[in-house]
Amino acid sequence: FSLTVLMLSGGLLLLVAFGAWSWSNARANLVTDLRVSSALAASAVHSRFTSVAANLPDIADRLSRQPDKAARYQLMRRFVRYHTDVRALGVFTPNGRLIMHTRRPLDTALPDIAQLPEYAAIVQRALRSHDISIGKSLPSLMDKGRVIPVFYVQRDAAGRPQFMVMATLQLADIVHDWQSIALPRDAAIGLLRTDGIHIARVPAPDPERLYNMPMTGILMRMLGQKPNQPSGLFEGWVQSDFTYRLGWYVQIAGFPLVVYISVPASVIWKEWWDTSGPLLMLGLLAVAIMGSLSRLLYDRELHHRRELASRARHDLLSGLPNRLAAQEWIAGQLDTPHQEFCLLQIDLDHVHELNSGLGHHAGDEVLRRTAQRLSQLAQEQNAFLAHLGADEFLFSLPASTLISAHGIARQVQEQINEPILLDQRSVRVTAGIGIACYPYDGEQDIELLRAVDSALQLAKSEGPGSVSFYDPVIPRESGARISFREAIERALAENEFELHFQPVVNLASGLPLYVEALIRWRDPERGLVQPMEFIPLAEATGRIRAISNWVLHRACATYAQWETAGKALPLSINIDAEYFQSPQLIMDVDQLVRQYCIPRDALQFEITETVLMKHTERSTGTIEALRELGVSIAIDDFGTGYSSLSYLRHLPVQVIKIDRSFIAGLDQGERDISIVRSVTAMAEAFQCHTVAEGVETQSQLDTLRSLGVEMAQGFLFSHPLPERELHAYLQTATMPQI
Ligand code: C2E
Ligand code: MG
Ligand code: MG
Repeated sequence: FSLTVLMLSGGLLLLVAFGAWSWSNARANLVTDLRVSSALAASAVHSRFTSVAANLPDIADRLSRQPDKAARYQLMRRFVRYHTDVRALGVFTPNGRLIMHTRRPLDTALPDIAQLPEYAAIVQRALRSHDISIGKSLPSLMDKGRVIPVFYVQRDAAGRPQFMVMATLQLADIVHDWQSIALPRDAAIGLLRTDGIHIARVPAPDPERLYNMPMTGILMRMLGQKPNQPSGLFEGWVQSDFTYRLGWYVQIAGFPLVVYISVPASVIWKEWWDTSGPLLMLGLLAVAIMGSLSRLLYDRELHHRRELASRARHDLLSGLPNRLAAQEWIAGQLDTPHQEFCLLQIDLDHVHELNSGLGHHAGDEVLRRTAQRLSQLAQEQNAFLAHLGADEFLFSLPASTLISAHGIARQVQEQINEPILLDQRSVRVTAGIGIACYPYDGEQDIELLRAVDSALQLAKSEGPGSVSFYDPVIPRESGARISFREAIERALAENEFELHFQPVVNLASGLPLYVEALIRWRDPERGLVQPMEFIPLAEATGRIRAISNWVLHRACATYAQWETAGKALPLSINIDAEYFQSPQLIMDVDQLVRQYCIPRDALQFEITETVLMKHTERSTGTIEALRELGVSIAIDDFGTGYSSLSYLRHLPVQVIKIDRSFIAGLDQGERDISIVRSVTAMAEAFQCHTVAEGVETQSQLDTLRSLGVEMAQGFLFSHPLPERELHAYLQTATMPQI
């Protein structure tokens, strides 16, 4: 590109240089023309005036010696006949009266010069002169046209004027001489007396004005400065037509006369343009063509390079940015330090089996669809998605923390788990996800990519569908985990957790029976954080115990307060897997029940189906121990796990909470209706109560009632409420139509 610029500017420079050179050339040529032409014009003038000037003293002398008047007249007539330059001869008395003129017969009345002020002034001036004197351009006394009078005074021995001879030259004759000279275009040619009076000029648009006006322009100034210079160049503003002109003047030797030829300065440009214009235009055209050609080539090259760069940064199959692009993105993020961000490396499980079972095109299609879904999620989350190759993707979350990254990891899994229809066959895919965070798990792009990859390997080793954090050296805890643990500890210490309560309503009476305690985190930076955003993460990082313990304590304390205030309501508390499986739970409950004097059946624990099914025997023991302490047990999110009926039969649970995905499906058709119907029938057989979770519409409520479900919980009745709002709600609670 710089070469092109260099070439173009070189070309332009050359053109400018050529232009300047040809301009000065044009000027020099013009000056030469002016010089030659003015020399010719001057020589014509010179010959006319010398022929007159050389003969005037002679004829005057002969006239003075001729006593006879008629003979004098004849002498003059003969003189005029032989000297074709001279138009007429006249004789004046020493006091300026015209007494003889060859254009008039002898002794006829002649014009009275005293009455003609122009003539009178000239004649008086000539009478005072001791040499040949040249008048000025005047209208002829006797004919049409202008004449130039030349005078000679004949004096006696004492120098007194005896008479004066006047020879008139015709202006037309001088002009005629000049017309045969080749002149530059727009040229003006003129004859000046050195005192500034014009004798002749072509063109002469306003002769009266021109021949009476004393010149003071540039030429006169030059003559004033260098009176002895025989010829020269002049350039400047001239007076005769007020234009800026360039000219050459020549002084007429022996006479106070100057011939000049001048042209308007613009003629140089015209001459220049006439000779070099086409060439310059051609040159400019060439430069322009060269310029646009190289521009075109440059653009193509650039496009080509961009295309290559883009291809180098995109995956062929999915069209997504590839590893290189991801690395650049990370490097870009690192340019703004102190900004946390997380990377999620996603690896689809069992793609090999898919490829060998359904063929490679099926595997490719799964990857493409997954890429599409992830792209959409990335767009929503303002994340950067890359396809690292094969079945691996990288989901990069700018300005994110470990907590939000874990939440996104779950959403990613949900997206991936959605069935994919392949040739009318529904395929389900799962994925392992590794998470690494800047700056905890690495401070360089390569380091971070390595960290997230090893986090992914950890997740893969934990089985399909797992999420794992980066754990650099096994005994050492990951930086991101430490940061999360610190946040939880701060939340506990600073009292940032709080409980909200959602009523569970009896469908027969329409009255709230009890409330479910649901935790919230009022984080000073992020505002109110929902449990789904930190409970799974707390479970994954082993921080759930402290939280569950806080919930249990807080719930018991709250119950005791309510009881003192006379508005006690049974409480249902969510217990996580770890706490449920630890003997500590029984000890804690025992202690709290006694500490707060909590009556039997005031507390219910919600445990998810999967947890209960994991170690059924141990679960049974725990449940029985809790029963003894007066705590009843509900299976939470029933229907999402894989309950085995035979196991369920042995579990002494009191309540089954039907997962809200089935309730949401009630409006959509028979399938979920029959599921809820069979769950209700089963509950009846096991002598359990049923709670429908997530009831949002009246029609869901109607269906549930018709199916014989006993209790319900959902936004239709109330959202989870802070304590203060809960009591206000309970006072005014009226059921939707039951
Ligand atoms: P969960 O135990 O199944 O709690 C019910 C969830 O459903 C609550 O979400 C509640 O707000 C929501 N919900 C209630 N009615 C409706 C409805 O009509 N429509 C919809 N779409 N949702 C409804 P929340 O409070 O975000 O809690 C989510 C989960 O977090 C809980 O599910 C539970 O598994 C866990 N969790 C909440 N608090 C605690 C806690 O103190 N300890 C433990 N270990 N887990 C908790
Ligand atoms: Mg629950
Ligand atoms: Mg639930």
